[in-house]
Amino acid sequence: SDKVQQRSIFRPDFNFEELGIGGLSKEFGNIFRRAFASRVFPPHIVRDLGINHVRGMLLYGPPGTGKTLIARQLAKFLKAAEPKIVNGPEMMNKYVGQSEENIRNLFADAEKEYKQQGDNSQLHVIICDEFDSMCKARGSTGDSTGTNDSMVNQLLSKIDGVDSLNNILLIGMTNRIDLIDEAVLRPGRLEVHVEINLPDENGRVEILNIHTKTARAKGYLDSAVSIPALAAKTKNFSGAELEGFVRAATSYAMNKRVNFQDVAKSKDMGSVLVTNEGGTPFSVGDKE
Ligand code: ATP
Repeated sequence: SDKVQQRSIFRPDFNFEELGIGGLSKEFGNIFRRAFASRVFPPHIVRDLGINHVRGMLLYGPPGTGKTLIARQLAKFLKAAEPKIVNGPEMMNKYVGQSEENIRNLFADAEKEYKQQGDNSQLHVIICDEFDSMCKARGSTGDSTGTNDSMVNQLLSKIDGVDSLNNILLIGMTNRIDLIDEAVLRPGRLEVHVEINLPDENGRVEILNIHTKTARAKGYLDSAVSIPALAAKTKNFSGAELEGFVRAATSYAMNKRVNFQDVAKSKDMGSVLVTNEGGTPFSVGDKE
């Protein structure tokens, strides 16, 4: 029953939309399921199988496509502790040795917990935005202080520290996979690479639905609003830009009617979403 219970958190209907992420096909669910299957089995079984967990994943693709959102939801899904979210450039420090120490500190809490609690330790997820900036290809930066190269070495040695990484999952995110030192991306390190691209038209429908869900449920969205029509007009919008568009349209509607109740009555927000009348900060179609 231990096994069955552990398995059941990977429900077959793993649903990104339910998690507030639109535009990801079922295939992404399969990738994540395959990559993290071992995390939902009791540690002694994983040990008997003689494998290690996947320790790292790289999400790459254009800005605003939901990489951070996916990483956070994945942490939740894996019942991890509150993830540590850091920004690559923040790790860099001009003082000798400080950047390496920043890298070591990233792993410190999880290591401490693993020492105390072993396999009972919670999973710690470390999410690194702009990951490329802390692990550029060694020898590529022309930096005479060698800070980048020693950061990369420190990172590699941390990731390779076998035991401590049992309870750590490192998720890097980048728009520039090409800049990253290849050694970091090898099996045993950040070995799962997932490209997250701009959403297609169906994806935009899902994302617009997610971000208008509450307003619709509360009756603030005019029934005349056609999400498919908006999706057709927002070619090349990222998820973040679609969210921004909904926000801009909502503020516009609220701003026109000082009394919020009136917005509901007039369904102004709906008309804004339909016509974009009056020019919101985002105008539909301006990216084509
Ligand atoms: P960056 O590369 O700039 O860090 P990112 O890919 O990490 O961007 P997020 O920060 O996750 O993108 O996206 C910003 C916000 O945009 C999210 O919090 C979410 O509200 C919205 N968003 C982005 N993509 C999606 C998506 N696929 N589905 C639903 N909402 C999305």
